[in-house]
Amino acid sequence: MHYVYIGLGSNLSDPGQQILLALNSINELPNTDLVSTSSLYGSKPLGPQDQPDFVNSVCLVKTELSPQGLLEALKKIEKDQGRVKKRLWGERLIDLDILLYDDMEMTTEELTIPHSQMHLRDFVLKPLVEIAPAIKIPKLGSAEQLLAQLADGYLITLNS
Ligand code: AMP
Repeated sequence: MHYVYIGLGSNLSDPGQQILLALNSINELPNTDLVSTSSLYGSKPLGPQDQPDFVNSVCLVKTELSPQGLLEALKKIEKDQGRVKKRLWGERLIDLDILLYDDMEMTTEELTIPHSQMHLRDFVLKPLVEIAPAIKIPKLGSAEQLLAQLADGYLITLNS
């Protein structure tokens, strides 16, 4: 069994609902169970500002899927849910990222684990620390400390 943290984000078509739909699909993947889910958070978009705010969440799953197998499964969920790529860092129906996979470190053309930007993003670190207060990112250390070092952004808790 592998323990994997997945980041979820959406800013279109009732984003909170899109996140719940995706969590449901993740829980239905073969040999995969949802262990815990963070609150939903509201965040400002990273790229172009002429798009709606995002809703973000992080979940922990235990799975027997390989990193590549899980990536393919997550891409299929994005596609089935109706995601269409519009522009770089633009609006998206659902975005699913593998953040951490056990304490694995890997880089291939398709996959970087830990996710290469996760330590820079409060909308990833805050929900991650909510469900895993003591979690460490390989090579970088405590997610809680990394979060404390980030400049104040705009992040609100939408539910608890
Ligand atoms: P995005 O547009 O954010 O969905 O990411 C596009 C690509 O990032 C995907 O097609 C993946 O192949 C690649 N990628 C690299 N590392 C990761 C990761 N840790 N989790 C998810 N996608 C990743």
